[in-house]
Amino acid sequence: MVGCPENLDYKQFFKFYHEIETDINEFTEETLLTFIFISRYWDINEQTHCPACKQSHYFKKVKDRTCFQCPNCSHQIYPLAGTIFHQSTTPLLKWCIASHLISKGTSARKLQSLIGVSNKTALRMKNAITKVTHTF
Ligand SMILES: [Zn+2]
Repeated sequence: MVGCPENLDYKQFFKFYHEIETDINEFTEETLLTFIFISRYWDINEQTHCPACKQSHYFKKVKDRTCFQCPNCSHQIYPLAGTIFHQSTTPLLKWCIASHLISKGTSARKLQSLIGVSNKTALRMKNAITKVTHTF
């Protein structure tokens, strides 16, 4: 990310970020949700250990819901639970872009205009992202 101009809007940012290799349309909410699920719940065999039936399975995304389901016992896992994205109405794509911009020192006021959220939302996002990144 060396040399990335800070004053890009989020579509320009993603174009820069992937240098035209990846279409921004691939970053759907479902894609990002799946990425978070994989990051949090996949084991080395690309399966998920089900806390209910105590077995590993290939969980499937539940249509129109933000969860994945065990094919054996129907237990559902909500990958956003316990994260800063939980119960947020702001799209995950905006959260991802905000994380990048805040890591570069972008202010809440600037974040507001760059990703198109209210001042209150920008402040809330900045506080949440700063809090979790400082816990590592
Ligand atoms: Zn299960």
